[in-house]
Amino acid sequence: IPPQQRLPSWLRRPIGAATQLEAVQAVVKQQRLHTICEEGRCPNRAECYAAGTATFLLGGPICTRSCAFCQVEKGLPPAAADPLEAERVAGAVEKLQLKYVVLTAVARDDMEDHGASLFTNTMAAIRKRLPQIAIEVLTPDFWGGQRDLEAGLSSQRLRLRQVLSANPVCFNHNLETVQRLQGEVRRGATWCHSLGLLAAAHEIAPNIPTKSGLMLGLGESKAEVVAAMEALRQAQCQRLTLGQYLRPSLAHIPVARYWTPAEFTELAAIATGLGFAQVRSGPLVRSSYHAEKN
Ligand code: SF4
Ligand code: SF4
Repeated sequence: IPPQQRLPSWLRRPIGAATQLEAVQAVVKQQRLHTICEEGRCPNRAECYAAGTATFLLGGPICTRSCAFCQVEKGLPPAAADPLEAERVAGAVEKLQLKYVVLTAVARDDMEDHGASLFTNTMAAIRKRLPQIAIEVLTPDFWGGQRDLEAGLSSQRLRLRQVLSANPVCFNHNLETVQRLQGEVRRGATWCHSLGLLAAAHEIAPNIPTKSGLMLGLGESKAEVVAAMEALRQAQCQRLTLGQYLRPSLAHIPVARYWTPAEFTELAAIATGLGFAQVRSGPLVRSSYHAEKN
């Protein structure tokens, strides 16, 4: 049976025939850009593009980490980041007349600033063309590991400060999964570094809302999800996304279970009770789903 047919009914969704879908695909291809929307073949593309939103992947298509759930290619990225990428993204955003842009990046652990400048350069290039546009950032953890520690630097904070000083409308960093499954699911990132990054973001720039997300279906229990939500609230995280993990290929970590729409609704109520100001919870919710509706 093809994998699509084994999906529960609530996850089968026609992609739709919005003309905006083709327009975005053409520009992304022509400009040699990468989007999470296309690379992940996100089921929400027609809806998001029609609403004037897309998520661009900065730093090239190859990631230095290899998270077990992620469809982005893994390996050693080209020695230097493409200096013209920011301009190409800005051109695409202008051409597509997007209203709300989400910028994310592969983890560039090979770069001195771990990719912080990819965000700030692209934001500056976009704003030069469209000064009023809303830009959300979805960043890696900027954790420099042993190299930073040996140099006695708290560089994660410096890189974070650099990105926040560009004043995004929302700072997003995903916790991805519950505490017990972090090691199995993520590579390089940890529970503590991610929560620390979110807490530091709120401390440095309290006026910029922080956001995080979890994928469900990797084997976590409801109690573990609630504990993760509590930990996020302790880190002052204000916005939350909960969505179903879908396996991109047989090489990726398998789905342990499909959470039902009713369970997502129940978790949303718990999250609201814990004090999240904005909660998006549903099988097809992704980190950037309806990001424009604040
Ligand atoms: Fe792109 Fe996010 Fe929308 Fe999916 S939910 S189409 S990744 S903006
Ligand atoms: Fe994917 Fe992990 Fe790399 Fe992010 S850090 S792009 S989730 S492999």
